Amino acid sequence: MTARLPTPFHLRQQFIRAALRDASLDALVVTHLPNVQYLCGFRGTAGVLVVGHSRCTLLVDFRYLTAARSLLESHPELSAIEVAVVERSYDDRLAEVLQQGGWSRIGIEAAHMPVNRFNRLSGSIAAGSAGPLERRGPSAVLVPTERMVERARVIKDTVEIGLLREGARRLSAVAREARGFVRPGRTELEIAGDIDAALRRAGFERPAFETIVAAGPHGALPHARPGGSVVAAGEGVVLDFGGVYDGYCVDLTRTVQVGARPADLARIFAAVQVAHAAAVKAVRPGVLASEVDAAARGVLTAAGLGDAFGHGTGHGLGLEVHEEPRIARRAPDQPDPVLAAGMVFTIEPGAYVPGTGGVRIEDDVLVVADGCEVLTDVPIDL
Ligand code: ZN
Ligand code: ZN
Repeated sequence: MTARLPTPFHLRQQFIRAALRDASLDALVVTHLPNVQYLCGFRGTAGVLVVGHSRCTLLVDFRYLTAARSLLESHPELSAIEVAVVERSYDDRLAEVLQQGGWSRIGIEAAHMPVNRFNRLSGSIAAGSAGPLERRGPSAVLVPTERMVERARVIKDTVEIGLLREGARRLSAVAREARGFVRPGRTELEIAGDIDAALRRAGFERPAFETIVAAGPHGALPHARPGGSVVAAGEGVVLDFGGVYDGYCVDLTRTVQVGARPADLARIFAAVQVAHAAAVKAVRPGVLASEVDAAARGVLTAAGLGDAFGHGTGHGLGLEVHEEPRIARRAPDQPDPVLAAGMVFTIEPGAYVPGTGGVRIEDDVLVVADGCEVLTDVPIDL
C-alpha cells in the first residue's frame, strides 16, 4: 500500500455546487458510478450520490454499507456525507431522500438515466408531494443535465495526475517486458495471457479493457480479439493493453516486429511513427482537439494511408478508459474541445491495410502549460 495524498473531494463537490447554482438547480442525482467515485471515492457496482447545496447523501445497499461508512470516516472531508441504506429498491430510497431534501429542481444525469427510471422517479416524487398540506413541499421536478460532472473530470487535479503518471510508468515497464512475450510459434492468446499476468504483477487492479494481441494480417483489424493464431517470423504484432491503477486507466500500444520488417510494413510503420510524433508535437493549451487529429491524419494522408486510418487519434483517460476529451475529426454532433492544461489523453494513430497488416502506436500525454508531457516511456520500435 502506498500512502495516500489528501484527496480534493471537497473541491470537486464545490465545482458541482457552482454548476448547480449556474443551472438554478437545488441538487444533482449522480447515478454514473465513475462520477460517484470522482466525487466521494466510493467504488461499488451500485450506489447513488445526491449532491445538494448544503447536504450530500450516498445511497448504498447492504453489500457496500461497511465499505461506505469506513470510506467516509477515513476522509475528514467526506464526513459531512450522510449514508442512506437501501433496503427495498434504490429508486424507492432515492425518492425518499429527494423528498426529505425539500428540493424543487433536481438535476439528473441525462446520459446515464434510462427513460423508464426517469419516469418512475418523477412519478414517485410527484406522488410524495401530494401528502398532507403541512408536510407538502413545493412540487419537485427532475431536470435533465449534460456533462455536469464530466466537465470537472476532463481537467485532472494533482492527485489524479499523480496516479496517471505512476500508472503510465508501470504500464511502460509492462510494455518493455511484453517485448519478450512475442516470439515465433506463440499464439496471440498466450501472449495476451502473459500481458495480463504482467499487469497484475505491476500493481494494476485489473486490465483497463480486453488486451489486444493481433499478429500479422489480424493487425489490420483495429480491435482484433486475440485468438489461436501463431506468430510467424516477418510479422508485426499489435499489442494494445491498459491497466487500472488505483482507479485510473492508462493505455498503450506498440507494434512489435518479429524478425526483419518487410518493406510494405516498414513503409506503414514509418508513416505511423511520423504521424504519432506530429500529433504529440501539436498538443498544447488552446489548440482544438481536431487540430491534433489533423496533425496525425495529414501525415498519413500524404503517405497515401488516409483511408487506412479509420479511427480518431485519441481519447481521454481517467476513471474511465474512454472519456473526454475525444481527439478526432470535427463532427457535427460531437464537441471539439479546446485543449487545456491538466487534460490527459492518448495519441494513437494507426494504419490498417487488409492482407498486409496494421501498425498502431499509442502513448498517453498530459497537457501542460507549454505543450505536453508524454507519460508513457517506451521505445517506439520496441
Ligand atoms: Zn489502447
Ligand atoms: Zn486507446
